[in-house]
Parts: sequence; C-alpha cells; structure tokens
Amino acid sequence: MTATADFIIIGGGIAGVSVGARLAKDHSVILLEAEPALGYHSSGRSAAMLIENYGNPVSRELIGMSAPFFRESDEFGPVPLVKPRGDLTVAYTGEETRIASIVDEGKGMESLSPEEARELVPALRPDRLIGAAFEPGASDIDVEALMQGFSRQLRDRGGRIELAAPVEGIKADGANNNGGWVISTPKGDFACGTIINAAGAWADRVAVMAGANPVGLQPKRRSAALIRLPDGMDASGWPMTSGIEDRWYCRPDTGRLMVSPADADPVDPHDAWPDDTVLATGIHHFEEAMAIEVTRIEHSWAGLRSFTPDDVMAVGFDPECEGFFWLAGQGGVGICTSPALSLIAAQLSTGQSPQGAGELIARLDPGRFGKA
Ligand SMILES: Cc1cc2nc3c(=O)[nH]c(=O)nc-3n(C[C@H](O)[C@H](O)[C@H](O)COP(=O)(O)OP(=O)(O)OC[C@H]3O[C@@H](n4cnc5c(N)ncnc54)[C@H](O)[C@@H]3O)c2cc1C
Repeated sequence: MTATADFIIIGGGIAGVSVGARLAKDHSVILLEAEPALGYHSSGRSAAMLIENYGNPVSRELIGMSAPFFRESDEFGPVPLVKPRGDLTVAYTGEETRIASIVDEGKGMESLSPEEARELVPALRPDRLIGAAFEPGASDIDVEALMQGFSRQLRDRGGRIELAAPVEGIKADGANNNGGWVISTPKGDFACGTIINAAGAWADRVAVMAGANPVGLQPKRRSAALIRLPDGMDASGWPMTSGIEDRWYCRPDTGRLMVSPADADPVDPHDAWPDDTVLATGIHHFEEAMAIEVTRIEHSWAGLRSFTPDDVMAVGFDPECEGFFWLAGQGGVGICTSPALSLIAAQLSTGQSPQGAGELIARLDPGRFGKA
C-alpha cells in the first residue's frame, strides 16, 4: 500500500530534518533519505561554526535570526548547542585596507594588533603579520546534537523517517483531483500533497525528476584534514583562524587541529573525497602562516557546499511546478542558518507569511531564476 502524507521531504541532512521537525507539529510528514544514515553528506562533514559575520547579507541575516536558538533554546535538552570559540582572520603586509573594512563592516568585530593575535594563537608566525579581525562571539555548533534534536522532534511529533530510500521517480498524482505527487523508491511508493526538496547537492536532479526547472545549483568541494599537534602544544582554546586571502583555515578539534585549504572547486553531485594536491597546497599555506610542521594527517575528508547562481539560497514554492517546494543552495551556512531557515520554510510551505521577513522572502524566492 502507498504510504501517504501531507508533506514528503526528500533529503535527510540538516535542511530536511529541521524543516521536518517544524512541519510535523501540525501536519503528516515522511522524510526520505537515500543513505542508510541521516547527515551522511554535507551535514556530517562541516566545520560546525556559527560566525555571524560570515557570507552574504542574506546569510548574515539568517545567521543572526538563528543565533538566539543556538544560544538560548533548551528545546533539545539542557546541554547548550554551542560553545564559545571566537573567529580570527589574520592579515599580512599589503592587506591593511581589507582587514580594516572587515572590522568596520562586521558586527561586534574587534581589530587586533599582531601581538594580540599571537596571544590568542601563539603559533602564528610574526613575519609580515599586520593585524587581525576578531569575532569573539563565534561559536562551535554541536551538529550531532542539532541533527538528533530535530530528527527526534520529527519522530516524536508523529513524522516518519525512511532511510536507504533513494527517490528514483516523481510523478504528478493523476488519480487525485486535488493535485499531489507519487514518489517511487526501492522501498515502495509514497504519496503526498507537497514535496520539500531538501536534497542538498542533488536538489536540481530531484527537481528534474518532478518536471521542474533546475535553479542552476553548483556543488563545490571543500576538503579538510585532521592533523596531530606537536608534543606539548595545547590548541584547545584557540579561535577558528583563517588567512584573509582564503587559502587556509584551521580549528581545534578533539585535541587535534582541523585544517582546510578553503577550496571551492566546482564538481558534480557525488560522495565527495579530498583531492590530495588541493589538500597539500592548503597545508603548505597553513605551514607558511603557522609555526607548525604537519608531519601526519590522521584523517581527511571532503564535503559539498552547493550554491545557486547568485549565492543566495532557494527557498519557496517553484513558480511553475505546483506543490514543489525548494529548500536548497545553503552553501557554507546550512548548519548555522537551519533554525531560522526551517521556520521560514515551514511557514511558506503551509501558506503562512513569516512576519516582518517580506524582503528576505523575496530574496530567497526560487522564482528569481526563471527558466534555468
Ligand atoms: C567542509 C565543510 C565545512 C562547512 N562548514 C560549515 C560551517 O562551519 N557552518 C555551517 O553552517 N555550514 C557549513 N558547511 C555547509 C553545510 O554543511 C551545508 O550547507 C549543509 O550541510 C547543507 O545541508 P543539506 O541538508 O542541504 O545537505 P546534505 O546534508 O547534503 O543533505 C542532503 C541529503 O539529501 C539526500 N538525497 C539526495 N538525493 C536524494 C534522493 N534522490 N532521494 C533521497 N535522498 C536524497 C542526500 O543523501 C543527503 O543526505 C560546511 C560544509 C563543508 C563541506
């Protein structure tokens, strides 16, 4: 028998579970995830940071709207979802104007001298260092707790999660005069009134299956490595640290240091893995900036950050394909924007207008891409 719900969400990353939890409060929801576990792709591979001065103005607005949930909400239990970390951007000779504008244009940013920056991160090499921009409020996000919190809420509210259920076909439901969809998976067919497309890097492919025009999503690979620190070096209190030229960043992680080349190579949707040359180049830039010799990589990985043509997410009903709702293109901010974005998506997909967010909703509207 075909299982039926008001909403079927395609994709079990942070986007899918967060909007699913919101919708399940008043509606029947089924979430279909291709992999045997939730968060297997981008959502399980992030740097897990909440940085309010990161990304374009739309991202920053959504991060600001999400911050109180991370800092104050006890919806998922008494343990906080974030821990203070700080975010340090370091600059070198010739980059005086750029670093000054990062401080001036940012919210709650501090300008640090080279000495102050090295007090926070003693391993920074002093050569050519001219100063840094510091966001003290930046925090580590407990992504596992966030994913678990949303998925538990989805189930507790009566929603259903089907793992290992890749969507292979989507058809308009001809038998139903009120519209709707029939979705095929190896686990059987599922029917619904509205599809939420939360398929991450695969969102354009899901759209094509449903007969909608793609928005032109471009997945970009980002790699990372976990390195061992020299004996006696304790980096646990360091902020996330990056070079202003965006060629490397690092962040303490369970007694090690996560180092990323900050790569953004365009790729097709796939189960991403790091490119050795890209990783080696990033580590070279890291070693130029930090007095740490990388002798061993303990673990490396890569994930996809998917962007629309204007780098702003696509959130809203498809302009031409009735009952098909987009929640895609979160790029590098899908985790830290999820509390606010899931609320907006749940309101829009149930015909409500999020209060005071008119301009933001227009910026997110997938209809802006026309026929891609
Ligand atoms: C290295 C790295 C660092 C990052 N750092 C940060 C950070 O510090 N802060 C931050 O906020 N964000 C960060 N991001 C970005 C963040 O991880 C993403 O924006 C976010 O995870 C996207 O979530 P998603 O649910 O849209 O995608 P995903 O987590 O990829 O989920 C999409 C899911 O859809 C499923 N799917 C696809 N097609 C189908 C189908 N046909 N049927 C069923 N299921 C399907 C996939 O299996 C997948 O599980 C980072 C990303 C990377 C790679």
